[in-house]
Amino acid sequence: MIDRLGAVVQDYPKPGITFRDLTPVFADGPALRGMVDALLAGYEGQFDFVAGVEARGFLLAAAAAYASERGVITIRKPGKLPRATYTETYDMEYGQNSLELHVEDVPAGSRVLILDDVLATGGTLAAAARLIESAGSSVAGFGVVLELGELGGRKALAGHNVRSLITY
Ligand code: 5GP
Repeated sequence: MIDRLGAVVQDYPKPGITFRDLTPVFADGPALRGMVDALLAGYEGQFDFVAGVEARGFLLAAAAAYASERGVITIRKPGKLPRATYTETYDMEYGQNSLELHVEDVPAGSRVLILDDVLATGGTLAAAARLIESAGSSVAGFGVVLELGELGGRKALAGHNVRSLITY
């Protein structure tokens, strides 16, 4: 389903980058439900919160949090969160970026499942993990719809459980 519905965009957001666009997969009801259920499988009872990375990770995290009766945590791009934050900067396939987490959103000692749409170099999810750990909590695991295997993201997340639904 992910294979059939996903779109491939050449030279986006920069020349030389092949971007996998999953918005058509999110727009398909059975596909969305199937992805969320598959991401949760294996993590049952192992997490207290689901965190999503802005913006596509929010879609998965909110649905997964609802399905598992847990709360959702937003890991956001800089300047979006109004109260005190932790900040982590990281390198991406196409440039540098930062992510932020409200200092008070995650009670210390929580177990957090982190979701995003795509794992590429792993910089984004590694930064998300550092944010959760800054809050005195632990990463229960990661879940992504699509893993771009050649970019070696799994290595950047060594020591953590990583569940991906499809690998290219
Ligand atoms: P990384 O930090 O692992 O290199 O990049 C992952 C982040 O960039 C994710 O938040 C993901 O949304 C975005 N990203 C990188 N490459 C792609 C891609 O080909 N398709 C999509 N949809 N997102 C991508």
